[in-house]
Amino acid sequence: MSEASAIGTAFTGTAFYNYLKEHQLMGSRCPHCGTVYAPPRPFCPTCLAADLEWVELSGAGKLASYSIIAVAPTAMLEAGYGRENPYCSGVVELAEGPRISAQILGVDVAHPESIVVGMPVRAVFIERGEGEVRKTFLGFEVIA
Ligand SMILES: [Zn+2]
Repeated sequence: MSEASAIGTAFTGTAFYNYLKEHQLMGSRCPHCGTVYAPPRPFCPTCLAADLEWVELSGAGKLASYSIIAVAPTAMLEAGYGRENPYCSGVVELAEGPRISAQILGVDVAHPESIVVGMPVRAVFIERGEGEVRKTFLGFEVIA
C-alpha cells in the first residue's frame, strides 16, 4: 500500500511541500495506533505519540465534499480562475484514511449536479508559474 521511510525530517508544511515538488504525496503515520495524517502531523492526537514516521500515500481516494469557487483567492486568480472560470475545491478521503482538501480536476464546474460525493479520484501534481515562482500544488482528478 505505502512505503514508510525513516528520514527524520520534521513534519512541517515546508517538508510536505518539498515532497509535492518531487510529486510525492506524503503523510505521517503513528506506529502505535496506525492512524495516518495528511498533511502530516508531528504527533498523534489519538494516542499522543510523538514518534510518527513519514509514509508515502497512494494518492487514491474518493471525493468527500466539494464547492465551486467563483470568488478566487489571489493564487487561483493568477492561475486564471475566477468569476468567468470557476473551479472546484474539494475534500478527498484518501485510501489510507485521512481527509485532505485540494482542487478537484476533471469535473464539469458548469454543472455541479454532475459532481457526485464518493467519486473515485487520484492525486495529481499541478505545476504553476515559471522559474523561481514555480510551485507545485496538490490536486485530485476524477477517474473516469
Ligand atoms: Zn497514535
